Amino acid sequence: MKYILYARKSTEEDDRQILSIEAQIFELKEFAAKEKLEIVASFQEAKTAKEPGRIKFAEMLSLIERGKADGILSWNPDRLARNSVDGGKIIHFVDRGLIKALKFPTFWFEPTPQGLFMLQIAFGQSKYYVDSLRENVTRGMRQKVRNGVWPSKAPLGYFNNPKTRGIDVDSEKVPKVKKIFELYATGNYNLREIAEWCKRMNLKSNLGNDISIGKVHELLQNVFYIGLMKYKSEIHEATHEPLISKKLFDKVQEVLREKGKPQKVKKHNFAFLGLMKCPCSAAITAEKKIKPNGREYTYYRCTKKKGPCQEKHFLRAEELYPQIKSFLQKVSLLSHDTEKVLAELDKEKEQAKEQAKITVQNLKTELLEIERKLEKLLDVYLEETITAEEYASRKEKLVKQKVSLAEQIQDFEQKGLSWLEPAREFVLSLNQAAKLLESENKAEMTTFLKNIGSNCILQNRQLLFSPKIPYDLVAAEGGPVHKNLQFPVWWTHGESDSGLRIVPIAKVDPSGFEPLASALQKRRSTS
Ligand SMILES: [Zn+2]
Repeated sequence: MKYILYARKSTEEDDRQILSIEAQIFELKEFAAKEKLEIVASFQEAKTAKEPGRIKFAEMLSLIERGKADGILSWNPDRLARNSVDGGKIIHFVDRGLIKALKFPTFWFEPTPQGLFMLQIAFGQSKYYVDSLRENVTRGMRQKVRNGVWPSKAPLGYFNNPKTRGIDVDSEKVPKVKKIFELYATGNYNLREIAEWCKRMNLKSNLGNDISIGKVHELLQNVFYIGLMKYKSEIHEATHEPLISKKLFDKVQEVLREKGKPQKVKKHNFAFLGLMKCPCSAAITAEKKIKPNGREYTYYRCTKKKGPCQEKHFLRAEELYPQIKSFLQKVSLLSHDTEKVLAELDKEKEQAKEQAKITVQNLKTELLEIERKLEKLLDVYLEETITAEEYASRKEKLVKQKVSLAEQIQDFEQKGLSWLEPAREFVLSLNQAAKLLESENKAEMTTFLKNIGSNCILQNRQLLFSPKIPYDLVAAEGGPVHKNLQFPVWWTHGESDSGLRIVPIAKVDPSGFEPLASALQKRRSTS
């Protein structure tokens, strides 16, 4: 007897009971070897047997009809037929004697009247199985829908209760699902941002997947959450517990409609605008670009689109921000260092007060001396020892000295300590830089940099910053101030003799900072 091996598994069959085509062939070959069956042809088909019209099945029958084979080897009768037409064909072939043997590892068949009867039942069972399954499923679903029970997989925030076969609330996910509606209703978030939020909140689908943008869109439109259900494009009342109010749902639909409309050019609030200029002296602007991969980038560029501007480069926000941070790092002073510096300043203040007292005292002594000289000069003149011209010239010199001394005394007495406030402010602003680095508040960074900077140029993708002198000085130290800063900024290089670190500070307010410089120089010479 010559057998044809026939294996079939439909791609839509997810029944794990049914072996894959490869596994069927393997099992059948093993079975054939054991039973010593001669295989003359082998057919495999990835088609359903629910409908007639399988090509390989037809080819097989044609071979048998032409007498090339007279037996079929298959895994189970249901592999051969699951519809009455194909099942009938097989039985008719058996009746005509064209098929002499049918072998199934899972089903015993003999071409006897009893065997044929059994085979008919087997094919019939398959058909009945398919029919009843289809019927049961649709009837069951319709019945469920009529009863107000969702007949399918529960949406996010619910689960299918296997005991009651109803839909229950998933209390763990409910607050997050509600929050999705609330967030979206504010109009401040788009679908992508909501999907990102879900990821951050570790909210997963019932199958354990990330919530996609499409999923968010679907969820926001699902009437299920207000206690209804849409089955076959028809809205039904449902018995499950609603999660949100109709009012919130309606608001969300409104926002969806609004956002669905073609967007007007959105006014972005880019960071660091108004701070930088192009070397061509035009302002720097920013714009958002979406790459083909869907990612968004912010670019900074010159506002001048035509003309003599040489700057063709676009600087990405991700490249600009580290540069700004790096500069802030250079002029930053940590809080505990700031306290130290301010304490030192207070000490300086006391010392300077003492110093000022002594200086004023000395100046006053000098002033007295000049007044004494002036008196003497008058005496000498009156004794006619000197001429009127000599008297006038000497007097003028002494009077000028007197005026200068009086001015100095007034300075020391009135504003001798005025350097303290600018110095304190300066130190506090260095601390603000450190705090900004921590808070990452870009708007405040912009304000801070505008306040301390005189010029900020974006050239060749580099931020060139020309801060006011003391900051320049701090930044020039190259690196975080607090690292090498055991003492205040202008103490940093206090060990050097140049005193260069002090002089520029004095330039901020020449009248104010000078005493600090002298006080420090004195301090250095005494230590
Ligand atoms: Zn330019």
